[in-house]
Amino acid sequence: MTEGTKALAAVGSPKRTKDIIAKHGFTFKKSLGQNFLIDQNILRNIVEAAELDETKGALEIGPGIGALTQQLAQTAGRVTAIEIDNRLIPILEEVFADTPNVHVEHGDVLKLDLETLLKERFAGVSGVSVVANLPYYVTTPILMKLLEEKLPLEHIVVMIQKEVAQRMAAKPGGKDYGSLSVAVQYYCVPELVCIVPHTVFIPQPNVDSAVIKLTLREKPPVDVEDEDHFFRTVQACFAQRRKTIANNLTAFVGKANRDQLGPMLERCSVDPTRRGETLSLAEFAAVSRELLAAGFNG
Ligand code: SAM
Repeated sequence: MTEGTKALAAVGSPKRTKDIIAKHGFTFKKSLGQNFLIDQNILRNIVEAAELDETKGALEIGPGIGALTQQLAQTAGRVTAIEIDNRLIPILEEVFADTPNVHVEHGDVLKLDLETLLKERFAGVSGVSVVANLPYYVTTPILMKLLEEKLPLEHIVVMIQKEVAQRMAAKPGGKDYGSLSVAVQYYCVPELVCIVPHTVFIPQPNVDSAVIKLTLREKPPVDVEDEDHFFRTVQACFAQRRKTIANNLTAFVGKANRDQLGPMLERCSVDPTRRGETLSLAEFAAVSRELLAAGFNG
């Protein structure tokens, strides 16, 4: 630990958080999902799950006043933290004035060119992970951007709403399994790290939270010819959860071609009366390939 980081001990302690907020007259914006962490053990658990060391980089989304950023800076070689709220930028600059391995980037993560940012900020590091306590109002768009842009990341360790974490990690056959589970598991191996009570935040959110670790796959676990078509097929199969896949796929192939669905699904060894929530990634991939071969694009 450097002199600088020692002097800044525990930004995320309840007292230091309240002091920083009072000093700068900061008021929380619910619309930006501002719930700051004030529990050192939870912060440590998040950082430990990311398997960082001084050769690695950490990209944080939404540093707030820097509770997690501080612990990341003590573990990773380099940290870049993207914050949308311009009122937090001078606070972060003051808190990390003596912490040279922290870079604060003012911007909206959904609008930034992350590929270029990663290249600029993390040249020479042995690997980069995203580590964040995400703003809950945009959790899914942020994660889908990270995954769909195929950014060169090792892990994504994030605090999110408990129900969303459970959906991401769900296996086929349960009520939590849906198109989000398929999308996340196509790109990553998910692991629920811990469930977090709402008492460890200020202000306290109305929902329970969980930390999820997503380890990026080197290549998808199933053979997919056309990714967009695969994801359109998955969406179609979940369009109405209580309907069978044959019923849900009718709109995809057009009513006039409905009769072809039964034989096509049987060729993939998928019973047309099953529901989307029972299909594995391999089965969705087989259905997508079959539809594509028959010229049905949704
Ligand atoms: N990391 C801090 C902590 O754990 O105490 C704060 C986490 S708070 C749940 C979410 C943070 O994300 C807030 O600081 C908020 O201003 C920021 N934020 C919200 N939307 C954002 C966006 N689109 N891009 C970047 N940051 C965003």
